[in-house]
Amino acid sequence: MAESLVTERTKLKRIPDRGTHERETIYKILDEGFICHVGFVVDGQPFVIPTGYGRIDDHVYIHGSAASRMLRNLQKGIDVCVTVTLLDGLVLARSAFHHSMNYRSVVVLGKATLVEDPEEKLTALRAISENIVRGRWDDVREPNAQELKATSVLKLPIQEASAKIRTGGPKDEEEDYSLSVWAGVLPFRLTPGVPEVDPKMSVEAAVPAYIKNYSRTPRS
Ligand SMILES: Cc1cc2nc3c(=O)[nH]c(=O)nc-3n(C[C@H](O)[C@H](O)[C@H](O)COP(=O)(O)OP(=O)(O)OC[C@H]3O[C@@H](n4cnc5c(N)ncnc54)[C@H](O)[C@@H]3O)c2cc1C
Repeated sequence: MAESLVTERTKLKRIPDRGTHERETIYKILDEGFICHVGFVVDGQPFVIPTGYGRIDDHVYIHGSAASRMLRNLQKGIDVCVTVTLLDGLVLARSAFHHSMNYRSVVVLGKATLVEDPEEKLTALRAISENIVRGRWDDVREPNAQELKATSVLKLPIQEASAKIRTGGPKDEEEDYSLSVWAGVLPFRLTPGVPEVDPKMSVEAAVPAYIKNYSRTPRS
């Protein structure tokens, strides 16, 4: 794909060397995350709504109740901004000013459209589910006609997008390196806890391997 994802709106301004518009980098971050924040304006009021998502090729898919304000308004074709953030560490500097975070983040701008084709809708729902718990979809009952009717799926093309990545330790002022204060990085990882069985389980079923071994390794 030769087209550029950079536009005037997705050009990074502050510390632009931390930014990239490479599709592969953007996809890798999107595939490691599963929660995005969806920003949009309705009647002059900005909303930033957290939700799950999935990616298929060059589209991000989100879903929700057909009655949701977010989904009802986005399908009208209003401008939307979808942001995904992965926190990799807290960067502790010798001065308050130079504290920072290590992160990988993506911003996608554009307009979303309603997925009307039933086959694409089901594929998208599967992609969202698989992005959150890979392996789950094949185990569970698929949505029925009524559930599908109550659910809207929207897709946003990844055409105007940017990624930003910070890595490494603190960058202090030269004169501060002699200060007697601990400095470094506290790494952060998203790791699951111990699975808790539903007390309403009425059949014997082992904890699936995809739950026991759950991790957020990107698929791409
Ligand atoms: C976990 C985390 C903590 C952060 N903490 C701070 C903080 O405390 N203070 C602070 O000023 N900044 C912080 N940032 C960076 C912040 O996200 C912006 O990059 C920063 O405010 C610079 O904005 P700007 O004015 O240069 O660009 P803007 O004019 O705001 O953005 C221009 C374009 O650059 C792209 N862009 C900007 N930021 C990002 C990003 N993070 N990821 C992907 N694309 C981006 C978008 O396409 C955007 O449309 C943090 C980022 C993360 C992920």
